[in-house]
Amino acid sequence: MRLEGKTAVVTGAASGMGKAIAELYAKEGAKVVVSDLNIEGAEAVASGIRSSGGEAVAIKTNVGDLNDVNAMIDKAVSEYGTLDILVNNAGIMDNMAAVGDVEDERWDLIFDVNTKGVMRAIRKALPIFLEKGSGVIINTASTGGFSGAHAGAAYTASKHAVIGITKNTGFMYAQKGIRCNAIAPGATITNIASTMTNINEFGASRTKVTQGVIPRAGQPEEIAQVALFLASDESSFVNGAVIAADGGWTAG
Ligand code: NAD
Repeated sequence: MRLEGKTAVVTGAASGMGKAIAELYAKEGAKVVVSDLNIEGAEAVASGIRSSGGEAVAIKTNVGDLNDVNAMIDKAVSEYGTLDILVNNAGIMDNMAAVGDVEDERWDLIFDVNTKGVMRAIRKALPIFLEKGSGVIINTASTGGFSGAHAGAAYTASKHAVIGITKNTGFMYAQKGIRCNAIAPGATITNIASTMTNINEFGASRTKVTQGVIPRAGQPEEIAQVALFLASDESSFVNGAVIAADGGWTAG
């Protein structure tokens, strides 16, 4: 098993990619703190993991709230004694509004959840990682984190910031045994995707304009495999990187 003996916190783990990551990590031997705003969903994921013989505990967390984020990291320590892997995956989509139509309130909410939550969780986890001299951080960015053509202004800017945090954290702590990387998923079949204008048309349009692109949206389990690689020692020389899992769209 590739994560035997490790403890992981996964945010946004009640559904979609977070759920797939939590389940795969547990299958690979990790003890998982299943964190989500949706506590019923998180409990269901944790209980499913336990029924399959794995170890998991759920916690209600609004990653936009400082106290919740701190309590989430504390939970890993109180429950399992330490933390080895932090997956900042929770995120919300915007309403595709261009900057001319963005409302301050919506902008602030998207940044609190998608960006500030990531920074705060890393900040809280760092003393644990620094003391051990090891730790892995994985942030779910988006192809919208390096392209302007995937979402509205707030989401696009928030995910560009996630990539910035990833690179800066990877750079700042590289010599302390800590690695920080991001995954940039393309259109993936999850709940959040249903808030896109039309994920099927969005996915299909790619194949019309770009040769050599995998002609479908992704599945959460395909993103989880990238998160497993980044969490495991197999990626020991990967740091400050952003791995696109988008069927090749942003390569064109
Ligand atoms: P999802 O909606 O299935 O899962 C997101 C989870 O985050 C949900 O369980 C939700 O309850 C939780 N969440 C929302 N707000 C929260 C908050 N304030 N605090 C804690 N948890 C909260 O969607 P998903 O596609 O699995 O999204 C996971 C990540 O992937 C997000 O960061 C998203 O931006 C990113 N992403 C998704 C796609 C896609 O096409 N699905 C593409 C690129 C990036």
